[in-house]
Amino acid sequence: MQIEHPYTGDGRWLRGNLHTHTTETDGADTVEEVLDAYESIGHDFLAISDHDLLVDPDRYRADTSLTLLPAVEVTANGAHVVHVGATAVVEPRADRQAVVDDIREQGAMAIPAHPNWEADFDHWPQSRLSELTGYHGIEIYNGNIERCPGTPLATDRWDQLLSAGRRVWGFGTDDTHDAVDVGNAWTVVQVAERTPAAVLEALAAGQTYVSTGVDIERIAVEDGTVELATSEPVTARLVSDWGRIQQTRAGETVQFHLPEDLVYGREHSYVRVECRGRGDDAAWTQPFYLT
Ligand SMILES: [Zn+2]
Ligand SMILES: [Zn+2]
Repeated sequence: MQIEHPYTGDGRWLRGNLHTHTTETDGADTVEEVLDAYESIGHDFLAISDHDLLVDPDRYRADTSLTLLPAVEVTANGAHVVHVGATAVVEPRADRQAVVDDIREQGAMAIPAHPNWEADFDHWPQSRLSELTGYHGIEIYNGNIERCPGTPLATDRWDQLLSAGRRVWGFGTDDTHDAVDVGNAWTVVQVAERTPAAVLEALAAGQTYVSTGVDIERIAVEDGTVELATSEPVTARLVSDWGRIQQTRAGETVQFHLPEDLVYGREHSYVRVECRGRGDDAAWTQPFYLT
């Protein structure tokens, strides 16, 4: 068994939010107020992703210590897609495959947003996520849905995609519309240098984890064992195909040995680790693909 995973580099861990609205569309706060809010909670990078509108980060770089990434939330005519690394607004065609294709043509990233939003918990029906190709990942935690119909957590969607053999990353975002949304969920990237290009490259490569409070300080894979060190004591679960919990560990350093017959002798494709800490603090690693 081989373990393929994105945590092969080194560098600093930087945290940021990839999904943010401002008064340029339906957010409550101006771009300047939003930048101040994210600076004050110690984030390192930020993407303003207004609805079908590109706010040019170059206008604001001199005024903030945040590393700014260009982004748009493709909104009209269908289920929402966060477009990170945007060079221009793509036409929000009802054909979302065409939207993802246009985003990829820019060399940018497409992230279907808040799959479990709305009263039917089904903003993105699973069948459509399964048919859609070319996207980098999905929002596995969208903080704005904490106060909207549906559920912010979408690891259920992710496990179904991963179990079907899809290689898609998980992303955590605030989907900020108001100050109350700031700092609910974030994505942490490991980068050698703090530049927009380096952050975008690490995001696309999955050199990331998702957090609502737990910092993962180290992720190492050696001799069939996955080891994590965290900033606070956690209960960590090793999750595999179809969401099955395979092993549970507790502590600030946790180790999971991956036996060859992980899924009761069935063919298996991935494991990932979820960490639960104090209160609502949690963190989710990207998948470790078993081949
Ligand atoms: Zn949305
Ligand atoms: Zn949004």
